Amino acid sequence: AKERGRNHYQFYSSTMTSKASLVLKLENLLHQALDNEELSLHYQPQVNLKTGEITGMEALLRWYHPELGQVSPAKLIPLAEQTDLIIPIGQWVLHTACEQSLAWQKSGLKPMPIAVNFSPRQFQQPNLVSMVTEVLQETGFPPDLLEVEITESTIMQNEDFARQALQELRQMGVHISLDDFGTGYSSLSYLQKFPFNTLKIDQCFIQSLSDRPQDLAIISAMITLGNHLQLRVIAEGVETLQQLELLQRLHCEEVQGFWFSRPLKAEDATKLLEQHCLL
Ligand code: C2E
Ligand code: CA
Ligand code: CA
Ligand code: CA
Repeated sequence: AKERGRNHYQFYSSTMTSKASLVLKLENLLHQALDNEELSLHYQPQVNLKTGEITGMEALLRWYHPELGQVSPAKLIPLAEQTDLIIPIGQWVLHTACEQSLAWQKSGLKPMPIAVNFSPRQFQQPNLVSMVTEVLQETGFPPDLLEVEITESTIMQNEDFARQALQELRQMGVHISLDDFGTGYSSLSYLQKFPFNTLKIDQCFIQSLSDRPQDLAIISAMITLGNHLQLRVIAEGVETLQQLELLQRLHCEEVQGFWFSRPLKAEDATKLLEQHCLL
């Protein structure tokens, strides 16, 4: 038993070490990624279901490493959050998204709201508001075309800080979106306590959407709630015509998802906007 205990310990500890060193290696690579211009943004349109108009674009981070290939945000963001890398990366994302939206505008497209994701640690930085102010000033981007997307878990870390920061952002004209709505713990009280402009219904609800009364009831309630609170409601992860038609029936105004378009690299996003959004 003793022997087994020791082996078990060794096994455990060597796994830990290799895992730690892998994280360390990734961290180094991610550090270089910013300098080497391996990071980029993709853009996914948000679409009004009645008019077919594109109402905004969400910026989504991409990391292409020459050896690792494409590293998904699901891996990359937690890694960046564990280290302080999320701070420079987050600032780069905001800056790049604002510049892209301005470039679209300058090329004769209608002004395009741009949504940018903020992860918990990134949002909880004491200088969050001044960082956003600085980027808006540097780029000359209109604050009311910026939408900051956060989730409930971001708020949960420190409600007082979040309330203060969100109020300040709202006062500047920045819009706030509650991302992944319906998957957290305290959605309803947060809707009451925090100044959101937009609700994004999490894609898990859309993907399980069918004619079943139970599925319809939950989504319908979320949409109605958002509409009554006079929030913009966006259904995320819409992939099929069936989902789209059900959402239309439930008076959902906006959708985002593969059905209309996958997230696109800047060049392709520009082409899409040129087809839809010429002034
Ligand atoms: P999210 O903010 O909920 O973004 C939506 C995710 O769903 C994106 O994944 C998008 O590509 C994907 N998606 C969009 N439409 C569909 C669809 O119809 N079907 C399916 N199955 N998926 C769809 P992505 O780009 O891999 O990003 C994953 C998460 O990583 C994001 O979830 C967000 O939380 C985080 N993230 C991405 N970019 C950034 C960033 O710049 N900063 C921060 N802090 N987080 C980011
Ligand atoms: Ca988002
Ligand atoms: Ca989401
Ligand atoms: Ca999500």
